[in-house]
Amino acid sequence: MAAPKIVGCFNHPGKEAMGRCRQCSKPICKECGFVTPAGMYCSNECRDKHEDFMKRATDVDLSKRQKRSLRARLGSVFSLIVVLVVLFFGAVLLGWLVHIPYLSSFSITVRSFLGLM
Ligand SMILES: [Zn+2]
Ligand SMILES: [Zn+2]
Repeated sequence: MAAPKIVGCFNHPGKEAMGRCRQCSKPICKECGFVTPAGMYCSNECRDKHEDFMKRATDVDLSKRQKRSLRARLGSVFSLIVVLVVLFFGAVLLGWLVHIPYLSSFSITVRSFLGLM
């Protein structure tokens, strides 16, 4: 693997770039870099653009996540119902086929309730 080439600043080709603008990915040195808690930018304009972009991306992400979590919740409720139904009828069937105290009487109760006597 080749060693990474030192990239010069976009504005000062002689100077080693400290990083890249988060918006336009221009290599920038310490002098012209615009450092914010979110990252480095080559200009105010780029910072504004990127913050705007990030804000929009977060908004989209948030609404997507809300939709996804709602669907996940519906899915888990649905699978819980399926599991309960399967367990219920499994117990009824088991009590029907095999004589197990309590379970068989429960099975008889359920069958009589459903009219399957
Ligand atoms: Zn930039
Ligand atoms: Zn520079």
